[in-house]
Amino acid sequence: MGVVDFGNAPRSAYLHIPFCHRRCFYCDFAVVPLGDKASGLEGPGSLSIKAYLDLLHREIALVCGAAPLSTVYLGGGTPSLLTPNQIKDLLNHLRNQVGFQDGAEITLEMDPASFNKNDLEGYVEAGVNRVSLGIQSFNDRFLEILGRRHRIEDILQACNWIDEFYKSGRLSSWNLDLIQSLPRQNLLDWETELREALSVGAPHFSIYELSIEPGTVFERRERKGEVLLPNEEIALEMMTFTSSTLSGFGFSRYEISNYAVPGHVSRHNRVYWSGSGWWGFGQGATSAPWGERFSRPRTRNGYRAWIESQEEEGLHKSLIAGCASRMPLDEKLMVGLRRREGVDLMHLFQQWGWSRDQSEEYFNSLERRWGRAMLEGWLSRRGWRFQLSDPYGMAISNQVLAEIFVWWDSLPEDAVVVSIP
Ligand code: SF4
Repeated sequence: MGVVDFGNAPRSAYLHIPFCHRRCFYCDFAVVPLGDKASGLEGPGSLSIKAYLDLLHREIALVCGAAPLSTVYLGGGTPSLLTPNQIKDLLNHLRNQVGFQDGAEITLEMDPASFNKNDLEGYVEAGVNRVSLGIQSFNDRFLEILGRRHRIEDILQACNWIDEFYKSGRLSSWNLDLIQSLPRQNLLDWETELREALSVGAPHFSIYELSIEPGTVFERRERKGEVLLPNEEIALEMMTFTSSTLSGFGFSRYEISNYAVPGHVSRHNRVYWSGSGWWGFGQGATSAPWGERFSRPRTRNGYRAWIESQEEEGLHKSLIAGCASRMPLDEKLMVGLRRREGVDLMHLFQQWGWSRDQSEEYFNSLERRWGRAMLEGWLSRRGWRFQLSDPYGMAISNQVLAEIFVWWDSLPEDAVVVSIP
């Protein structure tokens, strides 16, 4: 076991709220569908939510030796199923146990039609200062196809409330989540959606491509030939349109799927991609306190048993386990390359403990794998810094990133072994 370095403790925390009204057709997250009428206050699902929050509070109470947090992210699931008081209690508990820095970014994920304006008021009073609204589409036909519960009317109402809080300074920023390359979506559909999304005034967008995950309704439908996704050419056109349109509106693409106007980059997002550690709390949540990832059980019973075992040991096990290792270099490279600024390879290699000679030797073998991407201009180089081009490099990023794993597997065992810096 390594020596615990509390001075280097994580400054970010993720709290997972696993409840949703229903499971959307594309979703494979660790969520618990409670029915369309569920709420954290009373009625369907409320007892389940209360029992879960009790466990979450117990897990937070296990943290020791932590440093004040600079970012907190309540994600899910649908955290806006919780009442403002439940969010307030969670944040107060975390504040008392771990501490918040002045000006900490505190984000709440919300879904349209799962809260009203009074709830939003309550969340803001509880300390939330950034909202991420999961709308996914600005078209009722696609919302239906995705299995979402909300409709355009709900989206517009939610956006109006949030924008009002933002413009009055009570929220410092907010994000819209959208999905592109939906079944049977064409370029015109997407252009219309993106223009409508721009009209609501959000200073940050997260835009993902639909992917079909194992075990989802979409996967079953795809096997029956019922899900027809746009081909690669159309998907690339959509991404190119997204990038150039948002750039024309003053947004910078600071990561493959994230765009922000100046001053609105999500600090919490950047922690994930910088390779820094973060705390994670909750059923199915992933933490990486010192870089090495640790995932909690995805079932309620498994999570409860895990908390009980942690309470018996008297110390947050993932904290200690994390001290013995760190994020592997190949992962650090992968997440780093997702960012607009890319990565400084020599810096990362030497941080990993390779000598200059080793770094150059291993770099040469990686460069050979990236040959085509560099030739085509999808990947550019300045000194030791490598960046994906926007939009083409980012659009085909999977090919470039996949080469990293092949390269990593080809290295001698003593080069990839984890060592304590
Ligand atoms: S609301 Fe989000 S987390 Fe919940 S099922 Fe739908 S996609 Fe998954």
